[in-house]
Amino acid sequence: MGLLEIQQLTKNYGQRDVLSSVSFTVSDGEFFVLLGPSGGGKSTILKILCGIEKADAGRVILAGRDITNLPPRERNIGMVFQDYGLYPHMNVFENIAYGLEARNYPKEEISTRVREAAQRLGLTPLIERIIVDLSGGEQQRVALARALAKDAEFYLFDEPISNLDPKLRAQARRDIQMLHKTRQKPTLYVTHDQNEALAIADRIAIIARGKLQQVGTPEELLTNPANLFVAGFLGAPAMNLLAGELEKNSQGYSVHFAPDFSVKLPEVWNESLQGYEKSKIVLGIPPAAILPTASESGNRVCATIDFIEPLISEVIVSFSLPGGRTGSGTFQDVDEASLELGSAIEVGLDSDQFCLFDPETELALLRGQ
Ligand code: ADP
Ligand code: MG
Repeated sequence: MGLLEIQQLTKNYGQRDVLSSVSFTVSDGEFFVLLGPSGGGKSTILKILCGIEKADAGRVILAGRDITNLPPRERNIGMVFQDYGLYPHMNVFENIAYGLEARNYPKEEISTRVREAAQRLGLTPLIERIIVDLSGGEQQRVALARALAKDAEFYLFDEPISNLDPKLRAQARRDIQMLHKTRQKPTLYVTHDQNEALAIADRIAIIARGKLQQVGTPEELLTNPANLFVAGFLGAPAMNLLAGELEKNSQGYSVHFAPDFSVKLPEVWNESLQGYEKSKIVLGIPPAAILPTASESGNRVCATIDFIEPLISEVIVSFSLPGGRTGSGTFQDVDEASLELGSAIEVGLDSDQFCLFDPETELALLRGQ
């Protein structure tokens, strides 16, 4: 088992808490993404895993072995960092071979491995070239080939493609996924780009302000964000987060926002709300839960269209809602010509997609079955 366990990692630089007790586990063969805003602590986690930074507390366990205090050269890691870490005046062959020489592989095996990795990444014609004569995309492939040539126990990528132009980025992402499929080892990939994370991750850990906010599949994070930070961070547009007053009557629970804007909550929330003592609550409405047509029986609200942004498969519409609130919806299968800036329309709300949050703790309430 190649399980990589990160246990309660804590790191301070002077007075600053850069990591506060971060724990998660990456399974054998899992493509695991660390996602979060810049300065959140993602690179610090990777540096601790490489051994180039020391944690103040916590442990790193690889396949049952505690590697927390192992020197970097004794850790068998395939790494690709944002600046690639190549030797600019060595050629492609020498750069790919570098990690293997350090591990004392026999000369012939090094040659075979380097040529195989170069072949895989289309670098064979460039094998004698020195790094400074390569384009950014080619350099990036050399860094990948170097990681691929090793039999590493796990792989780390720190924003490896953020320096590339969009066309090369798609290719590089495929190369990384290919490397991962070939090796089937735990892989940690850092990005601040949620589209990239949602596209390639088996699971994502959201890291912000040195704290682990949530771990889950892309689907889990989008439909059940654990707190207000995750709800407001993910999605383009992000979930609509509307603060209101929780009310209970014989019909059940509802959230009141303004004189002509109240939303009835479905019964699945009853159990969770019975233990909720506060009156203030935040309703989370995913953009896809705002519907261009309102049904007779369901929740609906009168909205004024402020902004229309047509995309290929959907239209993003921003609204003013009663009580000075705003919201954004993503409409599927809607005739764009039927939408008019400044006009008032009645939109439906799909209550099955609602989320609820405690504004004080910022944590999500649990939806019942
Ligand atoms: P991310 O990779 O998520 O952008 P980092 O892990 O690079 O975040 O940094 C987290 C925080 O730690 C940042 O505020 C950064 O300024 C700080 N930091 C990183 N390295 C050092 C260092 N060597 N000394 C002091 N502060 C540091
Ligand atoms: Mg970083």
